[in-house]
Amino acid sequence: MRKPLIAGNWKMNLDGAGATALARAISDASPSYGKIDLLVCPPFVYLKTVGSVLNGGAALLGAQNMSHEKSGAFTGEISASMLKDCGATHVILGHSERRHIYKETDADMNKKTLAAHAAGLVPIVCVGELLEEREAGRTAEVIRTQFDGSLAGVSAELMAATVIAYEPVWAIGTGKVATPQQAEEVHADLRKLIAERYNAATADQVRILYGGSVKPDNAAELLGQPNVDGALIGGASLKAEDFLAIAAAG
Ligand code: PEP
Repeated sequence: MRKPLIAGNWKMNLDGAGATALARAISDASPSYGKIDLLVCPPFVYLKTVGSVLNGGAALLGAQNMSHEKSGAFTGEISASMLKDCGATHVILGHSERRHIYKETDADMNKKTLAAHAAGLVPIVCVGELLEEREAGRTAEVIRTQFDGSLAGVSAELMAATVIAYEPVWAIGTGKVATPQQAEEVHADLRKLIAERYNAATADQVRILYGGSVKPDNAAELLGQPNVDGALIGGASLKAEDFLAIAAAG
């Protein structure tokens, strides 16, 4: 059985006081969510503060991005070991905002995924199609290409520990949510692909999250799909009550 993972991506939002207050509200409630993993991903500069609030609580700490480089002259970049040093256990990689605004490629994602695993961080590798790709009937092809490009060279053992997030780009921050059937179709195909590339046991272990306008009122149906193992939440993760309501639906 895969344990559901409910992850909040705070993006470039909140200040120190806001991040602390949100972490405290989640941490206070989190002992009642023992059957699922909760994860929050604040901006880099608040990782330590949020981590200290979560300390002893049931929520995990993650980052939103990282460099694939270990150290050196890379101004403005943050390494995997720095994230670990700040208490992070997870890192979101290849979010559509990184892919589309900052032009990160599958090859970049691959280097980051390997570097995250090498440092002992769990990568949450995001994949997702654009609206025009869906409308052209290319969803499966796009997702499979992103998967293969981002995960090349990852062993079966590390694959089992990798989290995949299916985030249709047209559903992120738009209020347009994929139907539970649309989400399940892609998740099932991703699991089939993992079985093809690795084996059935590995495919059975990988957690595949759905992301894209998940809210308290649509969470139960999405999370009720057999291959949806949790959610990656943007906007609704900034309000503790909404984030926790989504977690309760898992
Ligand atoms: C996201 O940014 O990963 C996301 C899914 O955002 P939202 O929930 O706001 O659509």
